[in-house]
Amino acid sequence: MLNGFLLLTEAVLYFGVMVTLFRLRHRIGLGVFVCALGVMHFLETYLASVFYVALPFGMVSPGSAVLFSGKLVMLLLLYIKEDAATVRQPIYGLLLGNALMIGLVLILRLHAISPLPDGKLPDIGFIDQMGWLMVWGTSLLFVDAILIILLYEKLGRYLRNAPFARILVCVACVLTFDQAGFFTALHFVAGAPIAVFFGGWFAKMGAALVYSVMLVAYLKWFEARPIAVPRGLSDIFDTLTYRERYEALVKHVGRDGLTGLLHRGSFETDGEAAIAASLPTARPLSLLIVDVDHFKSINDRFGHAEGDKVLKSIAAVLTEAAGAEHKVFRIGGEEFAILCAQPHAVARLLGESIRHAVKASAGTSKFDLTVSVGISSLSETTRCLADVFALADQRLYKAKATGRDRVVGGLGDAQVESLDAWTRSA
Ligand code: GH3
Ligand code: MG
Ligand code: MG
Repeated sequence: MLNGFLLLTEAVLYFGVMVTLFRLRHRIGLGVFVCALGVMHFLETYLASVFYVALPFGMVSPGSAVLFSGKLVMLLLLYIKEDAATVRQPIYGLLLGNALMIGLVLILRLHAISPLPDGKLPDIGFIDQMGWLMVWGTSLLFVDAILIILLYEKLGRYLRNAPFARILVCVACVLTFDQAGFFTALHFVAGAPIAVFFGGWFAKMGAALVYSVMLVAYLKWFEARPIAVPRGLSDIFDTLTYRERYEALVKHVGRDGLTGLLHRGSFETDGEAAIAASLPTARPLSLLIVDVDHFKSINDRFGHAEGDKVLKSIAAVLTEAAGAEHKVFRIGGEEFAILCAQPHAVARLLGESIRHAVKASAGTSKFDLTVSVGISSLSETTRCLADVFALADQRLYKAKATGRDRVVGGLGDAQVESLDAWTRSA
């Protein structure tokens, strides 16, 4: 009980101090965090080779359960918030630093050692044992670090919106792998009994849980700022980082910052492409231009920030109404366009459902929210994007002029039918 409580306290202290150093990285430099990580790495291996406490489920070393697990989580944090080029620095540093330590110990052993005044002699044999354990542990750490980054990447596909599950699964899997590897060495070098494996594993799973909770909380409350710009270099970590960032970038390119909708530039390219694809087969294609009614008065009465919120909510309504098969663009301040690969009559229905959905979305809010919609379709007289756009715009103008909150498409039903007949006949 006391041991469990002390382990938890150690984990909270370790995490608290390390993330504070990490958080201050822009002011005092990342070196402080990395050095502290190195010092803890030494203490960790020392503790893991000699310092064990009994818990109900077995023997546990604070070195493994608290410090090693914590270090892995710190490396993951470094990867998440900085980049792979940065996270490889402590990993390579720890590995090479350990090699240097072994080299130095080999030379140190050659000394004729003078006893201290109280007759004590250093236990150089212990340094040997710990040294090799440290090299093994650090080599494992090297693999662990690659593994945790790979896992984190892979899980991103399924758990991008569940950071706690993503981090917990990563940490728990890698710690399990590590426990198996580290115990093997501990067993052969220090003769650790099997109880140490299970005790250590349970403790590491507990650590995974505690650290994941703390890491998610830290990321959520203290690191909610945009990702740093990636830096160049070229090893496995880099490739991964660049891929993740590249994907994020590609997702944002061509999108409007406020609403996340495709922007005007995308509209030109996608619109031309859609027309080029439709023309040869006369496949139907319609364009809806949606303009918010009296939007300026919302800005004027409730402020620009409130106006922005309204734009976002309208964007969400349009995206929902348009579904996956139609693309929605923000082509102006409060003007949107939807490319709809459907005949004119269907596009009009879509226009009506958008008009109703926007109206309903305002619900009981303090202002009325309505839109006007102009629709045109690809036809014999409108065969290019500019023509289709001009016609839809003209109809939008008409919707505004005739009282707003309405959808204006092809003039009469007879014309709608003849248009649809044209697309059917081809
Ligand atoms: P109507 O279309 O019904 O004729 O009236 P309106 O008031 O909506 O028309 P207008 O096009 O004159 O005004 C559009 C306003 O949209 C003007 C501008 O201040 C506002 N606006 C444009 N972009 C943004 C934006 O990104 N955020 C906010 N809050 N307002 C914007
Ligand atoms: Mg408007
Ligand atoms: Mg407008």
